[in-house]
Amino acid sequence: MTADQSDTDHSGDAFRDGGFATRAIHAGQAFDPTTGAVIPPVYQTSTFVQTHVGGLRGGYEYGRGTNPTRDALQELVASLEGGRHGFSFATGLAGEDALLRALLAPGDHLLMGNDVYGGTHRLVGRLLTPWGIGLSTVEMSDPDAVRAAIRPETRMLWLETPSNPMMKITDIAAVAEIGREAGLLVVVDNTFASPALQQPLALGAHAVVHSATKYLGGHSDVLGGLVVTDDDEVAEKVGFLQFAVGGVSAPWEAFLTIRGIKTLQLRMQRHSSNAAAVAEALVGHPAVERVYYPGLPDHPGHDVAARQMSGFGGMVSLGLAGGAAAARAFAESTRVFQLAESLGGVESLVNYPAEMTHASVRGTELEVPDNIIRLSVGIEEEADLVADALGALDRL
Ligand SMILES: *Cc1c(COP(=O)(O)O)cnc(C)c1O
Repeated sequence: MTADQSDTDHSGDAFRDGGFATRAIHAGQAFDPTTGAVIPPVYQTSTFVQTHVGGLRGGYEYGRGTNPTRDALQELVASLEGGRHGFSFATGLAGEDALLRALLAPGDHLLMGNDVYGGTHRLVGRLLTPWGIGLSTVEMSDPDAVRAAIRPETRMLWLETPSNPMMKITDIAAVAEIGREAGLLVVVDNTFASPALQQPLALGAHAVVHSATKYLGGHSDVLGGLVVTDDDEVAEKVGFLQFAVGGVSAPWEAFLTIRGIKTLQLRMQRHSSNAAAVAEALVGHPAVERVYYPGLPDHPGHDVAARQMSGFGGMVSLGLAGGAAAARAFAESTRVFQLAESLGGVESLVNYPAEMTHASVRGTELEVPDNIIRLSVGIEEEADLVADALGALDRL
């Protein structure tokens, strides 16, 4: 580094103590020291020139190991989740796979919530079980049930809150305490809440995973996954898997995710207020059997959610009185809510879990009732979203 460059801080350290919105924009994102470009460059390169054999510039050697754009994203998300170590992957499931294989060994048992993302259950049940990992599921929102389901060989608890798609709420601090007392690793999939609304590491979890494809990216234009931990031993193992296997995010995908995260807090506020408006408008409609949204005062997890989240998020599920036929008709009749898998983008989406996102868990304990509709409420005009959902109900 030249003298000119050394007075610029490229590490983002200056913002480590800032508030969430400040860190979302600045952590790991110091301007480019060479040109002053306010946005750090996208390092679209596979390798790095060495000064002499083994003479690495800034520690960079080869793109599977490290890349400055990916480092910037990892530092950013680690900061937002309150952990010291972040790892970015090509997809959420690639991150989950790295975490699971880094921390579990044949003979270990994994206890998972009975309402997690279908792909997570498929990953463990179809790929890791044949390699000797035991799997069972439990009602994670019931701490007594969790305690009773722990076996001598249990090594990890895996939970999702709010859960997908039934919007169950798990008390993270209570389950983390049960897990720590039993010497288990506690992992939280924080995709639905995002760190803008919920920070599981501060509540006692060992690691957080994200599908960055959802709220972190936020614009339905990138796939990505993140693992964050404050535990050095977990970090060392996950970092080795990331390097040795290489399910990493590409520089351009890392850049798009960083770009999305800058507005994360604003988006989550609007997702939450729009979702609350939609949920409240649908309660009591004769075609609706039940609205599942933790922001509703009669939701069984409302008090826990109010305690551990700073907003109730953008996901709302509905049970329709007319069963499967009504659910399909609703999903095919909304206009602003577009029929697609995925969630967490600025645009609103409607999903029919039984045949779409959760088709892979049919016949398991995770099977989703066939009258359930899941809404990912976007950041469009609140009135348009409420009118669209009510219109589709009225047409049933
Ligand atoms: C989508 C999703 C995943 C998987 O992430 P991908 O990026 O699709 O691999 C994991 N957990 C939750 C809660 C999800 O919604």
